[in-house]
Amino acid sequence: MNTTEKYDKYVMRSYGRLPLAIESGSGVLALNGDREYVDFGSGIGTNSLGYCDKDWVDAVCAQVQALQHTSNYYYNEAGAEFAEKLCEVTGYTNLFLGNSGAEANECAIKIARKYSFDKYGKNRHNIITLKNSFHGRTIATLSATGQEEFHNYFFPFLDGFANAEPNDLVDIAGKLGSTVCAVMLEYIQGEGGVCPLDKEFVDLVYVLCAEKDILVIADEVQTGAGRTGKFLCGEHYGHKADITTMAKGLFGGLPGGVCLSGEKCAGVLTAGTHGSTFGGNPVVMSGGKVVLDKAANPEFLAEVAAKGDYIREKLSALPEVVSIDGMGLMLGVTLKTMNAKDVMKAALDKGLLTLTAKEKLRLLPPLTIDYQSIDKGSSILTDILKG
Ligand SMILES: *Cc1c(COP(=O)(O)O)cnc(C)c1O
Repeated sequence: MNTTEKYDKYVMRSYGRLPLAIESGSGVLALNGDREYVDFGSGIGTNSLGYCDKDWVDAVCAQVQALQHTSNYYYNEAGAEFAEKLCEVTGYTNLFLGNSGAEANECAIKIARKYSFDKYGKNRHNIITLKNSFHGRTIATLSATGQEEFHNYFFPFLDGFANAEPNDLVDIAGKLGSTVCAVMLEYIQGEGGVCPLDKEFVDLVYVLCAEKDILVIADEVQTGAGRTGKFLCGEHYGHKADITTMAKGLFGGLPGGVCLSGEKCAGVLTAGTHGSTFGGNPVVMSGGKVVLDKAANPEFLAEVAAKGDYIREKLSALPEVVSIDGMGLMLGVTLKTMNAKDVMKAALDKGLLTLTAKEKLRLLPPLTIDYQSIDKGSSILTDILKG
């Protein structure tokens, strides 16, 4: 049996996988045998520095040879340095270290509920999330996710979540009642189709939440770590949430998630109230440190924005492209007549990896992509979109 066959036999078939086993990678290229693929998906935005960035590999290898794990009974230096650096870069007070985006959001939900419980007592536990959002696959984060198609099979889902219509000022204002402890939002809904929120909607959420002591939780699992051309997407909107969650690109392809807190909630989680065996694992932290060293740099971020503009310019000229949404290197392409999934499959055949989100073609190339590789990938896409 080859790799694909073993997967299909031994791994539960919870994914619709494409017929490609990636054997290795280098920079923007994923490799299988003698075939190369320009990767415009970067493992769903996780391989933010591309495949096997030299500094990242060196740091991770050095760490794994020195110390692979401690558990949270003890301290470790890589975790300390990562946490310090991420707080410095984002202006947050402190953070909780987990293993994934869903876990980062679980932590945010727990902090919001406990913050409110500590201050106001019971029955102020509701969290407003937005329709079309995506917050993860655990039962709590599925309950938070504002898409009916995710609310199947696994009943009962959790109480305490209600959805508001994104960009509807009247709807959100009406939903921020006295039982609400938090609003959770993605500035750009990623899985929902790369849909940025309107600035005036986000402004209103912050004003209303400040008035009512309702926490704002920004789910920056996909938008964070430089993806949009700012380190946090909230910077584009001029806002800093009480709690921000990050994961995907933050560790360069290692599994990690972070829940960042400002001063308001910094002391909410006390000893014994939350935990994770692997959270803050030094190997993952060492990878994260290298990502922070590179991706939090203003010149690097300006390049991300410039490369995003360059891709837009190339693709928006095509008659098949109706519009391109997103910011920086998080792009959602609306097609006129073609089906995004068909385009993704055709691109794979021609040596280009892409993603979809809802009906759009989604592009999340590594933040380190060079212009030549953008040209190469874009010309493959251009061929396909020409029909
Ligand atoms: C991917 C994603 C998640 C879930 O992250 P996992 O690491 O898969 O648990 C949560 N929120 C957003 C916005 C995401 O894009």
